[in-house]
Amino acid sequence: MHGNLIAGEWVNGTAVPNINPSDTSDVIGDFASGTAQDATDAIAAARAAFDTWQFSAPLERHAILSKTAAELMARRDELGALLAREEGKTRAEATAEVGRAAQIFDFFAGEALRLTGEAGASTRPGIEVAVTREPAGVVGLITPWNFPIAIPAWKIAPALAHGNTVVFKPASLVPASAHALVDIIHRAGAPAGVVNLVMGPGRSVGQTMIEGDLDAISFTGSTGTGAMIAMESAKRQRRFQLEMGGKNPMVVLDDADLDTAVRACLDGAYFSTGQRCTASSRLIVTEGIHDRFVAALRDAIAGLNVGHALNDGTQIGPVVDQSQLDSNLEYIAKGEAEGAAREIGGEVLSRETAGFFQRPALFTGCTNDMTIAREEIFGPVAAVIRVRDYDEALRVANDTPFGLTSGICTASLKHASDFRRKSQAGMVTVNLPTAGVDFHTPFGGRKGSSFGPREQGAYAREFYSTVKTAYINAG
Ligand code: NDP
Repeated sequence: MHGNLIAGEWVNGTAVPNINPSDTSDVIGDFASGTAQDATDAIAAARAAFDTWQFSAPLERHAILSKTAAELMARRDELGALLAREEGKTRAEATAEVGRAAQIFDFFAGEALRLTGEAGASTRPGIEVAVTREPAGVVGLITPWNFPIAIPAWKIAPALAHGNTVVFKPASLVPASAHALVDIIHRAGAPAGVVNLVMGPGRSVGQTMIEGDLDAISFTGSTGTGAMIAMESAKRQRRFQLEMGGKNPMVVLDDADLDTAVRACLDGAYFSTGQRCTASSRLIVTEGIHDRFVAALRDAIAGLNVGHALNDGTQIGPVVDQSQLDSNLEYIAKGEAEGAAREIGGEVLSRETAGFFQRPALFTGCTNDMTIAREEIFGPVAAVIRVRDYDEALRVANDTPFGLTSGICTASLKHASDFRRKSQAGMVTVNLPTAGVDFHTPFGGRKGSSFGPREQGAYAREFYSTVKTAYINAG
């Protein structure tokens, strides 16, 4: 049994088996499903630990974060295999994700030593002004299943660097990566109560956190849960940060290099089985290149190797579970019912092991008001929308309730620059997939995709610390 970490102790609970989506006969292990009481205890432990931890030496925080980074990097093959086994992304993708988590901890180890403020002149004579940052407090972190180690890393590492204590609730589908990460941080020397892990259902553990005595909540997940966290946090006048879904457009213009565009769309729409909030699920293509682009992308999809996440040569792993697969199939049926043409894919595949395998699907003849062009599917499904020219492409790209990422493939500096300025997304790519971002730069979106300060990089301080302005009369 893998327990929860509360106040520095591993605590058992009801055992829940963790199932491999590539092979449902493979049980990865039993993980404790925590209770509402566990969440309450974890919050109390984090509050008790905050008294001391908030004043801890930056060098102590640096040491814990560096040690965590080093162990993650040293064990990335082993932990990558574990992540691939529980979430279903390919071994290569999973190993890269663990490496990314290591880089994030390494970056924030440095940030712990860069906690600077500002000194300024007052408008009044003889008075000094100092602007400093202090930790936000006891922080609740609630994460989704699709990046089981990178998303927890990019929340826990800045929280600790800035002197906060943490109650961390991972998604129920991916307890193994969360447990491994917290075990490493614990052994790296985080004092009791500084990082608490409470695995368990959102409706009990998560709900208790939302209604509990937390100073801040950082959430990544669905729009529905995010909206509830926003309401509950507003009632409690508590700071919160939300990263939610996307319906990210990739614009392909006539002058695009065809290979570049196809590679960018293949990666952006389908890698990680399309289960990325940054996935390009709307491919907005101008008339002159449309048919060539669709033919080339269809061929590329036909050549994709869908299979067990741990097999050599697998490019697309399984869908994460039966309910996500059912949801993908419903969207595919809706796409057809609303008049889109299924060019290729969408069918459930059988392999040697019983898993949730699905061929990536490409729809053409889509309009931007179809359900498959408006709602986030969170699976390997993309919709091609044919447009006349750049102006129409830009208008369609921005016509969405979301605004996380957007991309354009073009050889035109003019159009690329215009798109970069006018795209209503938090992150824009040119001749690159919409997914796949750096770890030291701000991550986040606009409109229905995000709320609150950006995550990652130095910008993370906006959420994990609060500013104090001091006026000093030294005379
Ligand atoms: P959910 O919102 O269902 O779950 C996210 C987390 O919230 C999980 O830990 C879940 O726990 C928890 N949760 C669920 N219900 C509650 C509740 N009532 N109170 C408190 N916590 C709760 O999303 P998914 O895990 O299904 O993730 C997929 C979604 O996440 C997609 O829509 C995707 O777009 C979005 N996402 C956004 C990203 C971004 O950065 N913008 C990145 C990655 C994903 P449990 O697992 O136990 O249900």
